[in-house]
Amino acid sequence: MPQAPRARLTVDLDALAHNHAVLKAEAQGAEVAPVVKSDGYGLGAGPVARRLHAEGARSFFVARLDEGETLRAELADREAQIYVLDGPAAGTLPRFAAARLTPVLTSLPQVAAASAWAVAHGGLEVMLHVDTGMNRQGLAPDEARALAQATDRLRGLDVAVVMSHLGSAADPADPRSAAQLEAFRAVRSLFAEARASLCASAGVFLGADYRFDMVRPGVSLYGGGPFDRPDPRIRAVATLTAPILDIRNLRPGDRLAYGRQYTADRPIRAAIVAAGYTDGVIRAANAGGYAWAGGARRPLLAVTMDVLAIDVGDAAIAVGDTVELLGPNALVDDQAAAAGTVAHEVLVRLSRRADRIYLGER
Ligand SMILES: *Cc1c(COP(=O)(O)O)cnc(C)c1O
Repeated sequence: MPQAPRARLTVDLDALAHNHAVLKAEAQGAEVAPVVKSDGYGLGAGPVARRLHAEGARSFFVARLDEGETLRAELADREAQIYVLDGPAAGTLPRFAAARLTPVLTSLPQVAAASAWAVAHGGLEVMLHVDTGMNRQGLAPDEARALAQATDRLRGLDVAVVMSHLGSAADPADPRSAAQLEAFRAVRSLFAEARASLCASAGVFLGADYRFDMVRPGVSLYGGGPFDRPDPRIRAVATLTAPILDIRNLRPGDRLAYGRQYTADRPIRAAIVAAGYTDGVIRAANAGGYAWAGGARRPLLAVTMDVLAIDVGDAAIAVGDTVELLGPNALVDDQAAAAGTVAHEVLVRLSRRADRIYLGER
């Protein structure tokens, strides 16, 4: 049966392994613990984590409890520690235990509940998240200090890792990172036995002071540059392609797609491509975004739900040719910048509609 034209997402796990090696080299001995939340940034937590496991990763982070349960099943009998960044909601510790997930405690009530549970069940290994200035999640430094001084409140708990998260690491010139580093040093010294973890992708590249014992990269494993812009060391992992359905010649003044998304100001040869925002091309990316076709960048003119249009000029491009919307020639950081967002969001919006192909599964 002939294939109907549709988008295809190729996930290159060899490129993922390459990026893992780059991060590992940069981390200089700190453990690289991949973040595979949000279904491995949209690329499939199972295949991603299995390949990273084959590359030597033994600790993984997810955001939600159910993501952790799914990942445990995906990893089946491979030995791995799975940390759940969301603090455990009341009553969920039995589920953590059943799936052998390590909770990341982010508030004093969670510490109290975890300690009570641990005393009744023979102990519990936890990670402690302390907020050092991002004001999103984590214990206040004063709360952490109070805990460290009243250790009966930690009864039953093995605080194996103390972590915090940087809010401005993508901009190396932002002084907030240095202030967070200083606050984190003070906090981690309170828990002398625990390992320490501060960095996501960007932080890994801020220098040795930031790396401590464990780093938690996400986006740079999946092809985003650590500083929200393309980085030649990082390879594209996700490649989204789609065929051209039609080529239309617009005259000056012709409008394309809905509303005022695009009005031709000169004669335009527009290729209509079989991918839309359902497939993960962000609608707002038409403002400066591009696709790769016929060996060059072609401006995105309009993105609708199922199809989009690009300006192919007078290039030798025809119906049926394949266009790259994301990948080694249409970089995720460029598409994100055009859409006013970050690579993380572009990746997690890659939908399940596109046909998926994995290269390099282990
Ligand atoms: C998402 C997340 C990460 C990974 O961030 P990237 O920018 O994708 O590398 C690391 N740590 C925490 C706490 C996170 O929420």
